[in-house]
Amino acid sequence: MASVKELLNLIGEVNKKDEELITKAYRFSQSAHEGQKRMSGEPYFIHPFETAKILASMGMDVQTIAGGLLHDVLEDTKITEKELEEQFGGEVLFLVNGVTNLGTLKYRGHERHVESLRKFFIAMANDLRVVIIKFADRLHNLRTLQYVRQDKRSRIAIESIEVYAPLANRLGMGKLKGEIEDAAFPFAYPKEYAQIEEIIKEKKESYQKNLSEVQKKLEKELAKNKIEVVEINYRMKHKYSLWKKLLKREMDIDKVFDVVALRVVVGSIEECYRVLGVIHSIWNPLPGRIKDYIALPKPNGYRSIHTTVFTGSGGTAEIQIRTKEMHAEAAYGIAAHFAYKEQGSKKSDNDKLKFKWIEELKSLNYHPNESKKFIENLKMDFFNDRIFIFTPEGDIVDLPEDSSPIDFAYAIHSDIGDHTSGAKINGKMSQIFSKLKNRDIVEIIKNKDAHPSVKWLEYAKTTMARKHIKSYLEKNSFLKKLKSFGRS
Ligand code: MN
Repeated sequence: MASVKELLNLIGEVNKKDEELITKAYRFSQSAHEGQKRMSGEPYFIHPFETAKILASMGMDVQTIAGGLLHDVLEDTKITEKELEEQFGGEVLFLVNGVTNLGTLKYRGHERHVESLRKFFIAMANDLRVVIIKFADRLHNLRTLQYVRQDKRSRIAIESIEVYAPLANRLGMGKLKGEIEDAAFPFAYPKEYAQIEEIIKEKKESYQKNLSEVQKKLEKELAKNKIEVVEINYRMKHKYSLWKKLLKREMDIDKVFDVVALRVVVGSIEECYRVLGVIHSIWNPLPGRIKDYIALPKPNGYRSIHTTVFTGSGGTAEIQIRTKEMHAEAAYGIAAHFAYKEQGSKKSDNDKLKFKWIEELKSLNYHPNESKKFIENLKMDFFNDRIFIFTPEGDIVDLPEDSSPIDFAYAIHSDIGDHTSGAKINGKMSQIFSKLKNRDIVEIIKNKDAHPSVKWLEYAKTTMARKHIKSYLEKNSFLKKLKSFGRS
């Protein structure tokens, strides 16, 4: 059963103020969700609690963990934004609001929606912690997916693999990416999952036996060379990424070298290279398999040295060498940069997060392996001023800054544009000439008697809306008036 103690233990050292915040958020969420149940029949509160635990184990700051505890209260309970702000302040409210808005998205499996989702995440990135809470939320939902209706199950699983995991990967959050993929894999591709299970079952033991021998020998040699090992262990490759690799290798597992890999964590970069020297003095490396990601990090920031060696009698082993810091970064990526954050000015902390994220995006531009199209979209949408507006169904329309409901209406359909009589913005009746803000949810009110007027041209920003309005006006011989208005 859930307890705040369990969560606090995961967070580790906390000061009095942090402990109070977490305890308060815990109790608040528990009572807000009182009486609600998950599909599994468990109390609903288990879900935000587990989400918060995932965030705590990633080393996220207490605001984010509180955000995790509270992430569903606005959507699923009677709690209002005002109450949340009064109780927990603007920062927590901002995070919960961000997650709530992400939650209204619908994924329909088309290329267009994948792109929209990516853009959407980027638009949200004025605080990356929102996306990280959403990741944790999704991961727990995936882990309890067996209780969800069959058709919904596969949609959620595929969306996780196609949208969430690549995004986590781009942020360097390798551990989370692997966990999301592996939790989704059996629901997204059951047949292939069973196949991988079979292959692993057959091979697992011999791999592990081989590696534990390599480990013993290496430990002895490292001790002889007076290199202090912080951590040494081996990991199995995540199942989904193994399947992807097998597809590229004619499904021949003997052509995949890193099904199991030995990890050596040491204190400094210098020692990493010394470990490599020791390894190559014991075993011969496979040509072309030495990768120095310390000197040349991967575009998502991943750093480590990889080598694959012949271990005798036809066996090979991949060994990965890294410092403690690199180890944390490889697991948590961008999250590791602001984990264990010092108490300090909140404002400057937030600025830092924003800056880091932009930095990350910029560094993505340099890499040739990234899909060109994605980068182009990123550049266009992130560095130009775009806003993302939602339909009440959760579809996204991408518009230039300062667009109005008129632009939105024409972006959906010219017939809707031509008959726009009003607009609901975030549920409130508003002027069709209002300036839309990023993440507004807009519903167009149609009336068959409503028609474009010259005034609309003042408020239409998009080429498409202006084109349709002008063509309507021309057809209805408002042309003279239009010319006297001075805009064409
Ligand atoms: Mn949730």
